[in-house]
Amino acid sequence: MSEIRQDEATKRWVIIATERAKRPSDMAAAPTADQQERAPDCPFCPGNEHMTPPEVLAYRDGGGRADSPGWQLRVVPNRFPALSPAGEVEVHDPQWFTNVTGVGAHEVLIETPVHNAGPAELGVDGAARVLEAAAERFEHLRQDPRLRYIAFFRNHGRPAGSSLTHPPTQIIATPIAPTNVRQEIEEARRYCDDRMSCVYCETIRQEVTAGERVVLETDHFLAFEPYASRWPFETWLIPKAHAAVLEGAGAGYLQPLAGALQATLKALHDALGDPAYNLVLHEAPLRDSCEDYYHWHIEILPRLATAAGFELGTGIWINSVLPEQAAAYLREHV
Ligand SMILES: [Zn+2]
Ligand SMILES: [Zn+2]
Ligand SMILES: [Zn+2]
Repeated sequence: MSEIRQDEATKRWVIIATERAKRPSDMAAAPTADQQERAPDCPFCPGNEHMTPPEVLAYRDGGGRADSPGWQLRVVPNRFPALSPAGEVEVHDPQWFTNVTGVGAHEVLIETPVHNAGPAELGVDGAARVLEAAAERFEHLRQDPRLRYIAFFRNHGRPAGSSLTHPPTQIIATPIAPTNVRQEIEEARRYCDDRMSCVYCETIRQEVTAGERVVLETDHFLAFEPYASRWPFETWLIPKAHAAVLEGAGAGYLQPLAGALQATLKALHDALGDPAYNLVLHEAPLRDSCEDYYHWHIEILPRLATAAGFELGTGIWINSVLPEQAAAYLREHV
């Protein structure tokens, strides 16, 4: 079992997962520019279902057995999970060297049976299917009282940490709340104490008024380059309706979100030649009472630059592209 360790000075958490070292080297060495629609040795291709752990969810329009071909989307546990589903959460919190048992869930959501289809090529229906499956898994994981947070993220391209060609989105549910989200919540709470409003709702108002950093605006969503973007072409997608968690945006959110997300990813794809990026959902931790002042959003972080000593050492980022110019360029491709 892995161990989650906390650094005393920064309160930052790290999962020490030695099991992951066993990851087969052939998976890590998959070529980046793979043009095949199917790959014989890909664990995420139809016909290779036996290469993954048994599925926990799948969509098969034509019916069919579990763990057999014929699916449009499949969710399976990660073969080399960062956290294990079984066991109790035990917090070891002496004066020093705090750690928590590595209990949680690590699932892989295989977005499409097509080996080489990138996220921008899923189409609105494909993206909606991914969001629907995520919502189902969130609903399931949310029942587990041991869990504090569900991380939903997509690594696209090798520089973004993806070792596989075949599109997977990942879900890692943790027994701790992540530092990044906690910091956002703390700051949002401070703002709410002072001004009695949500800082993210105010950001939406300010960005719509300014207009120059807006990539696209729909009835329900705003995609924009943050004023203080850390990365070139850092892009956020945020719902106009205030909600602390994605599920709180209402029943009709899936299709509009899929539409806005596809349009945003396609703009990045077309403008920048299919860049590598990390896409992360930020929402309130489970059973957290921050719904008045926290506001869920998706951050897309293109990996066009490398975080180096200054960024890693100070947490201060150097971005070489003006967000206003990045937005103008992306708008040409929407
Ligand atoms: Zn494949
Ligand atoms: Zn808000
Ligand atoms: Zn965030």
